[in-house]
Amino acid sequence: MRKVLLSLLLRVFHLHKSSVPIEKKGLIVILVDGLSYDIFKRSLEKKQGSFFSKLIKKGYSVYPYFCGVPASTAATEAELFFGASENIPGFTWYDRSLSQFVRGNRGKSIVGFEHDMKKKANLLKSGSCILGIYSAGATQCDLSGTELNLKSPMKAFRKLHYLLFIFLNPVRLLLTCYLIVISMSMSVYISSKERSKKKLITLLKSAFSRIFLGNIASYIAELEIARETPVLFIDYVLYDEFAHEYGVDDKISYSSIRLIDWYCESLYKTAKKSKRKYDFIILSDHGQTQSRPLDKSSRLENIVQNALNDPSYHVLRTFGFSSPPQKSKNVFLVPAGSSVQVYFSETLKKPYLLGGLEETFPHIIDRLLKNPEIGWVLVRQGNDKQLLMGKKGSVEFTNGRVLKTTGSPFVGLPVDKRALMSLARYASFENNGDLVLFGNIDDDGKLYAFEEHKGTHGGFYGDMTKPFILTDNKSVIHQIKRDDDMRVVFESIRSSYGADKL
Ligand SMILES: [Zn+2]
Repeated sequence: MRKVLLSLLLRVFHLHKSSVPIEKKGLIVILVDGLSYDIFKRSLEKKQGSFFSKLIKKGYSVYPYFCGVPASTAATEAELFFGASENIPGFTWYDRSLSQFVRGNRGKSIVGFEHDMKKKANLLKSGSCILGIYSAGATQCDLSGTELNLKSPMKAFRKLHYLLFIFLNPVRLLLTCYLIVISMSMSVYISSKERSKKKLITLLKSAFSRIFLGNIASYIAELEIARETPVLFIDYVLYDEFAHEYGVDDKISYSSIRLIDWYCESLYKTAKKSKRKYDFIILSDHGQTQSRPLDKSSRLENIVQNALNDPSYHVLRTFGFSSPPQKSKNVFLVPAGSSVQVYFSETLKKPYLLGGLEETFPHIIDRLLKNPEIGWVLVRQGNDKQLLMGKKGSVEFTNGRVLKTTGSPFVGLPVDKRALMSLARYASFENNGDLVLFGNIDDDGKLYAFEEHKGTHGGFYGDMTKPFILTDNKSVIHQIKRDDDMRVVFESIRSSYGADKL
């Protein structure tokens, strides 16, 4: 019945079978956005991932791997697809060579960025990309960043014909409706507590669309498998969104894992019926670290404005615009979870070095670090030299390496050598702000987030750099046991599926 419906839909949408020879082994990569290794293991204990457990019984293994800074979807996806993730400091950044802001879900800007990247490979060549940021050579891209806007998913419903899919599986439709109802009631509860009608509308809209979107995306993926696509990538963003809003181990966050587990099982079953033999890799792009938002929504702007000590500058928070305001003196704050990129409008082409910055805004770094919410500030010292300053010490980097540590920049926090090396690489990105601020850890061990996050990422601290990978691919497992750094693990994925070298 299902097979008949899928082939009927193939005809309705005028989709043709893939021209890649059927003997070529297929690959399905499922990304569970934001799910750390520890929470993934806990979800199995809590029986929220029965299909994942089944795979483990079948011989799949689960491992943590190290994604490093900035622990962001935009960087991990780029590393997976292209073997390159330089100059991606978060989900949104000012691109100094393109002279514009780039955001992971903003079609035009990300297409330009992807085009200019120095890639080693294109993992999705002739394949399908669903809800991905980049297209990576895929010939079929649905709901992806290059195509439309991931974080304002209502736009997806312009493609109304996709709504036909929901009738494929009434049971799943019921669970979807259940999650929508729960999520909407939570939205009503939260906004009535805060007495904000505007917040209610935003919450309702996002609650409805994000759950519905995952469901539809999942059916599109099944259609792509029915089309015998050689490689398929799909990103499920549901857990990441719930964990941001309700916390990494909240009940509702776990129930989103259960829904994703269902989606994965459904994809697996469809793949088993295909003439093409598929391998499955399920992984997350980063984890999340428990966090707390700042006390007031305008707090970040106030912190920066006070540190500048110059009222002629206009400090504004942004997620990017195609052409930033030119004339007045602006300071753009681009928050990404536990970090913020700070760009000055007069130095968008050539960022400030520490000397020039301190001359223009005396004691700016000290003034920033005096705030309990700011843990570390990253600044350029010279052309190939950067300095990460903490409250009680600093680390100097040069050419992507650690040069010198002074005092105790991390005061007893478990920041190991590997995290430090990853910070050194990150510090060398030319697209970083003139300043990069990192959230501090409060007395309860919670990380300050610069967005409304109870669980966050975008920095270097805690579970956010420890995502998981579930696979039965022997060479990937062999690699991960020797070194679990994202870059070498992803290289072994690309080479075992013959991703075309460029
Ligand atoms: Zn996120």
